[in-house]
Amino acid sequence: MVERKSPEKKTEKCAIKGCTNEYERSVAKDLVEEAGMEVDEDQKKGYLCKEHYKEYKKRSKNERKIGTLGH
Ligand SMILES: [Zn+2]
Repeated sequence: MVERKSPEKKTEKCAIKGCTNEYERSVAKDLVEEAGMEVDEDQKKGYLCKEHYKEYKKRSKNERKIGTLGH
């Protein structure tokens, strides 16, 4: 019956849909979506876990390269 919750200290989770990792970096949600990653609708900020932050950086880098890279 007793559920331990700490209302003040809340650990934010990664904002990516389906990801339950703790967040490592906060990135503007818009930028995360722009990178083509799916942010959970409940999230107001683009909290990213380590793995997703890595992916975000990779994707945003690639995005900028599009146009200069031909097929
Ligand atoms: Zn994640």
